[in-house]
Parts: sequence; structure tokens; C-alpha cells
Amino acid sequence: MRLLDLEFEDLEVARLYESEPQYDREQPRFLNTVVRLRTSLGPLALLERLLAIERALGRERDAARPKGPRTLDLDLLLYRDWVVRHPRLVVPHPGISERVFVLLPLLELCPRAYNPETGRRYRDDLDRLTLEGIYPIDG
Ligand code: AMP
Repeated sequence: MRLLDLEFEDLEVARLYESEPQYDREQPRFLNTVVRLRTSLGPLALLERLLAIERALGRERDAARPKGPRTLDLDLLLYRDWVVRHPRLVVPHPGISERVFVLLPLLELCPRAYNPETGRRYRDDLDRLTLEGIYPIDG
């Protein structure tokens, strides 16, 4: 299976960040980043593709620990300036504003990113959070 094909173009990848686990704390650090890309897929088809990539890369997760260790977790954060409310897809992703490990790489790629539902800039959300437990990996 080709993971990245013509449906994904102009990929930009932010730095990698190591982050301390926030919710289920008895586990190793996570690696986080954000990717920005152009695609012909609509939001639901894009979600399906992300889930297929997770499966293809051997995603494993303990059902009893939803915030526990996992091999890979791909989330759809933003799709243009659309607001999506679907049983299988919520965009913008509801966790963005509270997660430094999402906001830092997101703002690297899209410094003016905002929540299309509230109009609130993600830069303002980041300014209210403490930059603790997050370590950019340079190089
Ligand atoms: P998780 O693995 O905990 O990220 O949850 C994955 C499930 O969340 C998927 O099966 C999706 O149907 C659902 N979901 C809802 N909104 C989103 C989103 N914006 N990005 C990724 N998954 C989402």
C-alpha cells in the first residue's frame, strides 16, 4: 500500500517535539508533530485515509487505556476553515486549544491559524499555557 500518494501534495512537516504524557502519566514520552498538506480528499475521506495509515503502520492500543501508549495516532486538526460535526469526525479537533504539543507545531506551520467556529486565534490559546514538559528535537 502506498501511504502517501497523489492525493497528498505540498507536504510541510513541523519539527518533532517530545512531550511528557498529560493524561495517563505512567508511560514514556510521546513524539508529536503537525503536517500541513494539500489534498483532493474531502474531510471524511481524509479521516478514512489517516485511519488506514494507522492500521498499515501497525497501530496497537490497549483498549483499557485510551490515553495510554500507542504506536501511532493521526488526528485531523483543521480542514480549510470548515466546521464539521459528524458522528465520526469533529473539526476543528476539540483538543487543539489545550495541548501545547499540538499548538507549537501547528503554529510553526500556520502562525495565523484560528478556530473557524469561534474566530479565536490559536496563538492566544498558546499564550495562556505553560511551556512545560515539551522538548523540540532540532535537526
Ligand atoms: P483517537 O484514536 O482517540 O484519536 O480516536 C479516533 C476516532 O476519533 C476515529 O475513529 C474518529 O472517528 C474519531 N474522530 C473524531 N474527530 C476526529 C478528528 N478530528 N481526527 C481524528 N479522529 C477523529
